[in-house]
Amino acid sequence: MPSAGPAVETNSKGPRLAVCVEDLSKDYALGDERVVALANVSLNIEKGVFLALAGPSGSGKSTLLNMIGCIDTPSRGRVFINGQDVSGRTPDQLAGLRARTIGFVFQTFNLFPVLTAEENVEYPLHHVDEIGRRERRERVRHFLHVVGLTNYARHRPNQLSGGQRQRVAIARALVAHPEIVLADEPTANLDHRTGRNILRLMRRINRETKVTFIFSTHDPQVIRMADRRVDLEDGQIVRLGVRARSDWRYAFDRARDGDDA
Ligand code: ADP
Ligand code: MG
Repeated sequence: MPSAGPAVETNSKGPRLAVCVEDLSKDYALGDERVVALANVSLNIEKGVFLALAGPSGSGKSTLLNMIGCIDTPSRGRVFINGQDVSGRTPDQLAGLRARTIGFVFQTFNLFPVLTAEENVEYPLHHVDEIGRRERRERVRHFLHVVGLTNYARHRPNQLSGGQRQRVAIARALVAHPEIVLADEPTANLDHRTGRNILRLMRRINRETKVTFIFSTHDPQVIRMADRRVDLEDGQIVRLGVRARSDWRYAFDRARDGDDA
């Protein structure tokens, strides 16, 4: 099985893996046709990595992120999050797991327009019962500080720039102390420089907190900032790269190794 990190035991769903995907496929019915969005994808993602899911539009990036994020269910195959098989879970169980384990960042920010920055950041905590009001406020304050928006707490999204909105979204993704942050093309709606700054912020948080970041992109400049890369084409993994200084070392490269992963 291809691994996005140094060698790990193939059948270990163990403590070192944030995500383990086993022979995952996803088809969509589109009228009479069947669209294959993912075909037999297997992948291990170690905890704490900063990983880019790279590939052109339509290659399956969002589909894979949605399976890892338990937003969508596979047609075949299994997904393990923190060693737990999430395949047979009920929607309620999945919602609970998501709220505690996974933070999401979206291409279009997806903030509530009527809520202020701090209310947007606080929102996911309403789904976690055991966190009281004081702790909630403390976390919101802390994460607005982490993303550099302390002075914008009372602003609504339409009073913020694109980059600031994405910072709010990052604070919101972190506020429940997730182990994994999934970001689907987080820089696609930002200009180049702002996008780079958002990636730098995410990478700094990754280094400081050890939260695993998995983000999708088709932008070579953004891929360059990752320390692992998984390249998708037509719903299949075609390359697995580990950063080696300023270049990539490919643990798997279909063009080099053939289909025999
Ligand atoms: P990416 O995020 O890399 O652009 P997607 O994961 O969105 O790719 O899509 C992968 C493939 O699956 C594409 O061919 C897309 O058209 C198809 N697809 C995605 N979602 C659906 C859906 N809900 N219904 C039908 N086809 C879909
Ligand atoms: Mg997509």
